[in-house]
Amino acid sequence: MTSHLFCPKCGRASEGGLCTQCLIKHFNLIEYPSILELEICPTCEACFAGGRWTKYQDYADAVTPTIMSQLNIHPDANDVRIALKPPLSDGRTSKIHVRVDAVVQGMGVFKEFDVEVRIKKRACDRCCRIARGYYEGIVQVRASGRILTEMERHASEKIAHMVIKQIQDISRNAFISDIKHLKEGMDIYVGAIRAGRQISKAIIDKFGGSFSEASKLVGNRDGKNVYRISFAVRIPKLMPGDIISLKDRAIQITGSRKKVTGMDLRTGARFISDAKSLKGVKLLCHESDAEETILTMVQDDEIQILDPDSYKPMILPKPPFLKAESGDEILVVKTGEGVFVLPEKKG
Ligand SMILES: [Zn+2]
Ligand SMILES: [Zn+2]
Repeated sequence: MTSHLFCPKCGRASEGGLCTQCLIKHFNLIEYPSILELEICPTCEACFAGGRWTKYQDYADAVTPTIMSQLNIHPDANDVRIALKPPLSDGRTSKIHVRVDAVVQGMGVFKEFDVEVRIKKRACDRCCRIARGYYEGIVQVRASGRILTEMERHASEKIAHMVIKQIQDISRNAFISDIKHLKEGMDIYVGAIRAGRQISKAIIDKFGGSFSEASKLVGNRDGKNVYRISFAVRIPKLMPGDIISLKDRAIQITGSRKKVTGMDLRTGARFISDAKSLKGVKLLCHESDAEETILTMVQDDEIQILDPDSYKPMILPKPPFLKAESGDEILVVKTGEGVFVLPEKKG
């Protein structure tokens, strides 16, 4: 004898228990709170969704994950799709229309409802840390054997902000909590070690030099040791534009990294050397110390100029790179080892 099973609700034949139609009819696809909360940081507009803060392009992008995390969808539902209409467009409380589509036992089911979304302002983890002056790394920018110049300070600061901008989306702790200017250099405090390392790299990419890392145990958080890392960035002593004295040569530096390049101001010859072998070299001046003066006479191997301070004529050997003619203005530097004509700047 064959046994026939019937749906207890409608009496139709079924495999046992409710038939698919009745199952779908009584299936509770979704449970949701009467009010959904959307937490937004008032400072940076990051949204708290799914247990963490994320920065979205706008509210509409934030609403979906936030609502997803607060809806309770039946575990037997497959291929769940959620559509929201209209997405929130401002920071006020508003009603949102939700439609959830899913597949249950091979049948498509859906539920539509309106739900109130309440915007709550709360400072995010990142903004709280910035406000507290939190930091994990210090980038200490110094120059070897001299004080960091204004230009180098300015450029390092700009580099630091640029690096942060590039990585802040992937590293939420990538922020600058403070910049301290000291007599000899500057300290950049950053919220993430990774940011400190990238900033250090970018600074030596620009100026040459090197950096080293040192870590210091500063405490314990959730059973884990917390370290702070200091990045000692050393910019080379020689800078482009420096004029140095080297075995009775006067060299104008054009590049200063591992290799130092320049030009001999007497012969016009190209100069190249290892940075290491130039340690302790004598610095005469910088090209920004140059003064303008008049070229009064040009001969085969001599020129006459007016001393820029006393206006007295003086004779110099003619540098091979000199293109100016008598009557032109030229740039000269007066150093302890003589007066030198500088080549014209290109561009
Ligand atoms: Zn039934
Ligand atoms: Zn924030």
